[in-house]
Amino acid sequence: MGEVVDDLSQPVTKTTKGLIVLPGDHVVVTRLAAEHAQLRWAYSVCCQCTMCTDLCPRRLLGHPLWPHRLMRALAAGGPMDAEVAAGALLCSECGVCDHYACFMGLSPRRVNQRLKAELGSKQDVRQFSMSEGARPGFADGQVPAQRLMAHLKLIRWNQPAPFRGTLPAGARVTIPLKQHVGLAASCQVEVGEVVEPGTLLGRMAQGSLGASVHSSIAGTVTAIADGKVVIERGGGDA
Ligand code: SF4
Ligand code: SF4
Repeated sequence: MGEVVDDLSQPVTKTTKGLIVLPGDHVVVTRLAAEHAQLRWAYSVCCQCTMCTDLCPRRLLGHPLWPHRLMRALAAGGPMDAEVAAGALLCSECGVCDHYACFMGLSPRRVNQRLKAELGSKQDVRQFSMSEGARPGFADGQVPAQRLMAHLKLIRWNQPAPFRGTLPAGARVTIPLKQHVGLAASCQVEVGEVVEPGTLLGRMAQGSLGASVHSSIAGTVTAIADGKVVIERGGGDA
C-alpha cells in the first residue's frame, strides 16, 4: 500500500502507517511512480487471466470488486458499467494485485485509484460495501508476507525499528480536514483564532462518512488552505 512521498513537509495523518526510505531507483518506488505508464499498458497488455481478482483480499472477503473487469473496461474505452466502476471504491489499495498477483506487471490498483478520485466525491462507498460473506478459497488466497517482501526486494529493510528518543515538539502543525475515505470535515475555525489541544477544527455533518478533526497543540491558526489547517505553537499546550 501507500504512495511515493518526495515532499517531506507533508503531514503525518492517522492513516500514515509507516515510512520506508528507499533508493529512488528501487522497484517499489519506480512502480508506484509509473502511473501514466501503468494506465497505458492496461490498454494493451492485460490478458484477463483473473489472477488479480482471484487474489484480491477485498474480493475474497465477498465484496463486489472485480479488478480484471475494471482492466477490461478500461481497455475497451467508452462508458464503464456502473457496478464495475463502483467496485473501485471498495479497493483498499493493498497492492496484492500489482505487487503480487499480476505476472504482466500491471496495476489494477492504479486504475482503481484513478476511478476512486473521479467517483469518490460523488458516491458513498457504504451503498456498495455489501459483502456476500467470505468466498470459498479465502484461506488459500492469503499472501505469504515473506514471499511478498522477497518479491518487492524489501527483505533487507525488514529489521526491528524500535522508537528511540523523544517526540519532537514542532513549532507548527498542519492538520488536514480529510484524512481518510469519505468527505472532508467542515472547518470550524478562522485564521487568527487561538486553539487548545482538542479544540474542534473540523466537524462532520450527522450521517456523513468521515470524522471530526481536532487540534493537537495549543496555538494560533495561521492559515487555512487546500483543506488543511495550520497552527503555530504558542499558549502553553499540554
Ligand atoms: S492479473 Fe494482470 S493480466 Fe491478469 S487480469 Fe489482472 S491485470 Fe490482467
Ligand atoms: S489493490 Fe484493490 S483491487 Fe488490488 S488486490 Fe488490493 S483491494 Fe484488490
